[in-house]
Amino acid sequence: MSSQEQRRAVVLGASMAGILAARVLAESYAEVLVVDRDKVLGVSEARPGTPHTVHAHALHARGHLILEDLFPGLTEELTGAGIPSCDLGEMHWYLNARRIRPARTGLVSVMAPRPLLEECIRARVAVLPNVTFLERHGILGVVPSPDRGRIVGVRVEPPDALDGGGTDGGEQVLEADLVVDTTGRGSRTPVWLEELGYRRPAEERVKIGLFYTTQHYKTYPGMLEGVSSIIPVASPDHPRGAFCGRIGPDRVNLSLTGMLGDRPPTDPEGFLDYARTLPIPDIYEAVRDAEPLFAPVSFGFPASVRRRYEKLGRFPDRYLVMGDAVCSFNPIYGQGMTVAAMEAMALRDRLRPGGPPSPREFFAEAARIIDTPWQVSVGGDLDFPGVEGPRTMKVRMGNAYLARLQYAATRDAKVTEAFMRVAGLLDPPEALMRPRMAARVFRHAVRRPPAGRSWLEQGRAAGVGDHA
Ligand SMILES: Cc1cc2nc3c(=O)[nH]c(=O)nc-3n(C[C@H](O)[C@H](O)[C@H](O)COP(=O)(O)OP(=O)(O)OC[C@H]3O[C@@H](n4cnc5c(N)ncnc54)[C@H](O)[C@@H]3O)c2cc1C
Repeated sequence: MSSQEQRRAVVLGASMAGILAARVLAESYAEVLVVDRDKVLGVSEARPGTPHTVHAHALHARGHLILEDLFPGLTEELTGAGIPSCDLGEMHWYLNARRIRPARTGLVSVMAPRPLLEECIRARVAVLPNVTFLERHGILGVVPSPDRGRIVGVRVEPPDALDGGGTDGGEQVLEADLVVDTTGRGSRTPVWLEELGYRRPAEERVKIGLFYTTQHYKTYPGMLEGVSSIIPVASPDHPRGAFCGRIGPDRVNLSLTGMLGDRPPTDPEGFLDYARTLPIPDIYEAVRDAEPLFAPVSFGFPASVRRRYEKLGRFPDRYLVMGDAVCSFNPIYGQGMTVAAMEAMALRDRLRPGGPPSPREFFAEAARIIDTPWQVSVGGDLDFPGVEGPRTMKVRMGNAYLARLQYAATRDAKVTEAFMRVAGLLDPPEALMRPRMAARVFRHAVRRPPAGRSWLEQGRAAGVGDHA
């Protein structure tokens, strides 16, 4: 039952974080309005507001469990629609050009294209009787109370203004008892705070110059036979990475990644040539004769960004920020959607006592959630010599241990399993340092050879030519 204070919540942004916020807010607020400038309902393709969603998106184990909890039967719905799923430990993961030992982890990975996953959960939220999606409405700003101590509404521009049909008088105010900003990394909250006389949050940035270029292919008989996904993970010795796998009954996704300005080309020949330079031949061989479903598309991700809202001394009441608007991680670690899901659960916990959630408490909890994935992402990035940032003793020791652990995972399925649980945000990184695990890691580390060579380098060394 809603209190007088919990009549209407307005969520800014109808992407992953916004949908999840709406899902939990609907349990406590009489009405939930979700505003987005795009048409979103029934849309299962990447849209103008979320161009990054055409690229490979994997959902970590923790995120999968949360989504299944919030949307029971989701996995079955997706697999029933022909979306492949498999055990996370049985995908073909390559670290430093070596395949890690497959392991049965019991952790399910459902390989739905991101826009489809988003639409499946949005459709479930849209049918909740107290949730309304306000589509094709641009968000202009927040409305403060006269003393500026709390947020009481949102200014939006309706579709005719967005279409250029004149903005005069087109602006509308949506009154709100709670506003949640989930407008992604371009969030205007720092600017709005400043306009209202608050400080902007401090911002941490790690420049990585990352590019994704993606193409989808129609499957042909025998393509990726018995293989769900092939993932050569970018590393300092092999900085070109890829995510290649089935994402539907007859569709394969290939996202190529390059760090520090190394952009995989968008012309078809250049794209294939780049795929050929991956450490292993399997992906190039799978796609070289496959039929592309669209021309390669590229997305640039200059830097990971973390906004430290938890450190602000003053923040308006009845206002929260979630998802990429708070922290956007290097996407190759696949953490963003899971962190948004964990934040939604933290919001739900703060709504339970009744009454509006305290921004201070929410941001403190969100910071705790973000700490580990941020350390993982930044620590991994700092392993690349070209990435600028402080390489503290903790970072250097962490990376030295991780290199040994990753090699051990190529020899020992138990190490793979532990690694997958930590990467999946189920277990804390300390789980990898427990005495039994450390003993396994060091047993293999004694004989650890240098990083594996790519297939092209091996071919050249053997005088075999380039296998073109
Ligand atoms: C290339 C790439 C690959 C990724 N891969 C993975 C992965 O494998 N796994 C993973 O978990 N995460 C991945 N991520 C991260 C993931 O995409 C994000 O964490 C996730 O989309 C966060 O969602 P969000 O709802 O916070 O923001 P967004 O998805 O950015 O959504 C913001 C929404 O706000 C709307 N909006 C913005 N401004 C306005 C405005 N002024 N008016 C109206 N509407 C507005 C937009 O239309 C959009 O719908 C990847 C990211 C990138 C860039």
